[in-house]
Amino acid sequence: DITHNSEALRLEQTYGAKNYNPLPVVLVKGEGVWVWDEDGNRYLDMLSAYSALNQGHRHPKIIAALKDQADRITLTSRAFYNDKLGIMYERLAKLTGKDMILPMNTGAEAVETAIKAARRWAYDIKHVPANQAEIIVCSGNFHGRTTTIISFSSDAEYQRGFGPLTPGFRIVPYGDIEALRQAVTPNTAAFLVEPIQGEAGIVLPPVGYLREAYELCKEHNVLFIADEIQTGLGRTGKMFACEWEQIVPDMYIIGKALGGGVFPVSAVAADQDILGVFEPGSHGSTFGGNPLGAAVAIAALDVLEEEGLAERSRILGAAFLERLSAVESPIIKEVRGRGLFVGVELTTKARPYCERLKQEGLLCKETHENTIRFAPPLIISQEDLDWAFERIARVLSEV
Ligand code: PLP
Repeated sequence: DITHNSEALRLEQTYGAKNYNPLPVVLVKGEGVWVWDEDGNRYLDMLSAYSALNQGHRHPKIIAALKDQADRITLTSRAFYNDKLGIMYERLAKLTGKDMILPMNTGAEAVETAIKAARRWAYDIKHVPANQAEIIVCSGNFHGRTTTIISFSSDAEYQRGFGPLTPGFRIVPYGDIEALRQAVTPNTAAFLVEPIQGEAGIVLPPVGYLREAYELCKEHNVLFIADEIQTGLGRTGKMFACEWEQIVPDMYIIGKALGGGVFPVSAVAADQDILGVFEPGSHGSTFGGNPLGAAVAIAALDVLEEEGLAERSRILGAAFLERLSAVESPIIKEVRGRGLFVGVELTTKARPYCERLKQEGLLCKETHENTIRFAPPLIISQEDLDWAFERIARVLSEV
């Protein structure tokens, strides 16, 4: 139903498949932490495109890298080498401490890559019998939308009508180390986990869980794969959320902010004994590793490091979380998070509050009906965050 007299909105609603339910605001410009709609109203972006905008909108350094590369060469395909991809590899290898990188575009493609790597590793290296490899995942997981990935979702709505589903996955309750222990068999290839579940509503596992899970994996020769697509690159106050428990996963899956908010770039990082299972012809992507994306990713990593964005997220986020926790409101059930990755779970539907916050000049989005996610760009100033806090506190307490 068309309720707004914006031509842009009307066109989206008329011709677009209805797989999203956006807030009725048409954005035409972004800069730093701010975005503007068609009527010139300004909003603070508290969603950051699901953490793909950690460096903010149109960061000058990233846009300069994009323009510069656009004037040279944008796409080579992997049939040839290009002069940017190797630099991105080296940066990511140093950042993750891993030997090898495999580039993709979207998060879901990188997750698919990790699944293929883990399965092949299970057969070629661990010697699991053919087609018996299992991957353990967690309830409440979100790893993307491909047919294989939704096959191991625990959300019926993500699967309905999309069968037959891909076999070979086991779901255990998130945060339950005993359940994980029970689920491991000689055929287990990997444990795939989000260090903090983002789409589930910023759900943190019990302290020590990730470390224990990692140790369990080591005991049983199971790969520990961290999906850091949303939690990585500074979002939780560390470069990777796994650092909170001093673990280095066997495989990192990275995406979103790797593209600096301008271009889709994702990657898997692991050592040679794992990513070495791919030989020419076994995996690929036409756009994966393109020089435009690589140039953008290099600049995106520069910005994260030069501006100390993980540290910013840790310091600003801790204070923000503390202030939010102190807000007195009958509708706040729980406030949780790490760094500038914060969820406020309400006792009621969150959508009307997101709409109220929009009127106050803040854009945020509900996740799973009752939780509002607050994840501003990590470049946010203390002043702008205070501005946001005042409005959030007011909207949530005037019930
Ligand atoms: N994994 C995690 C943890 C995510 O949060 C997301 C996206 O929200 C994905 C994977 C999928 O990424 P993409 O939407 O780029 O395919």
